Amino acid sequence: MNNVRPLVYLITALTSASVMAQTPVPAVSTVDAHYVAPSGKITLAPGDKIDNLHQRNMEQPYILQKIGERTYYVQRYFYSTTFYVGDKGVLLFDAPEGRGQFLLQAIREVTPLPVTTLVYSHYHVDHIGDSPFWVSEAQKAGAKLHIVASEATVEKMRFMNSRLPVADRVLKSADNRFTFENLTVELHRFLKAAHTDDHSAWLLKEEKVVHSPDLLNPDQLPMMGFAVSDTVVYHDANLLQVEALDWNYFVGGHGNVGSRDDFQFQRRFLNNLREATLKARKEEAFGKFMNKTANNHAEFARAQREAIIKRVTEALRPQYGHMYGYDASMPANVELAIRLVGSY
Ligand SMILES: [Zn+2]
Repeated sequence: MNNVRPLVYLITALTSASVMAQTPVPAVSTVDAHYVAPSGKITLAPGDKIDNLHQRNMEQPYILQKIGERTYYVQRYFYSTTFYVGDKGVLLFDAPEGRGQFLLQAIREVTPLPVTTLVYSHYHVDHIGDSPFWVSEAQKAGAKLHIVASEATVEKMRFMNSRLPVADRVLKSADNRFTFENLTVELHRFLKAAHTDDHSAWLLKEEKVVHSPDLLNPDQLPMMGFAVSDTVVYHDANLLQVEALDWNYFVGGHGNVGSRDDFQFQRRFLNNLREATLKARKEEAFGKFMNKTANNHAEFARAQREAIIKRVTEALRPQYGHMYGYDASMPANVELAIRLVGSY
């Protein structure tokens, strides 16, 4: 018996040590955020953020936060969206793929009303792929789901032979707003869009909330090539365009609830990334990678690209290495920066 106890202690100690070793250290805030526990009842103070967001995504069915009189941020498995509760129905921005049932649960925490209008912010299926779920939920409630989208998104979906439900309210070139009960929603098209060619920002005017998935991920570094953007050439201009609008809360489709600090952080990061990439491109010149063993210059270009990525990642590590997803995201972020500095 005497030997059993030390064994139990040993097993307990080993188990907790391995649990500790497996528990990741939380990433450091990009904006030195003030964190609070999420609430579906108390409106978040502008600038504040939800605490332990990563851990909550791993453990909770959804994360719900009130961000206006009638507006809510909700996140399920790292995808967030915005909904507005009217007197007769709910207006939902985007339909993140595979998450409908849980977003509905979150909406039910606030209201029994059905979702009657859905907005497609841009044509990326991970953000709007669950629209059939919302069509059928509206039918169950005896309502018809209206879908609003910009003409650019509608045309793109047609061009790509999308199988998703088609928008029945199309905002054409001069048309830049619609109303949902007492709310005015403004569509802000980008002069030249970086993320996708139909990307846009949607302002819930009276609520002072702006919804623009994949523009930036609040409280996080740009993820995997700026949230899988087509380009970053126009990214800074897009950030400035949204920053100039009148809002208190930003919903970016991923990450925390956003504030103006997040825009400043993103612009600073982009600038540092551009400068580091310009420098690395000179230091790792193409000629350095020409060797007689390969029969093609693609091999040289690939080696040069890898060297630039490595150099930029190490150059920015002291400033950003401790932030959300640094090593996972930098290769794709630098790839986009290489294309950006190709246009300097
Ligand atoms: Zn997207």
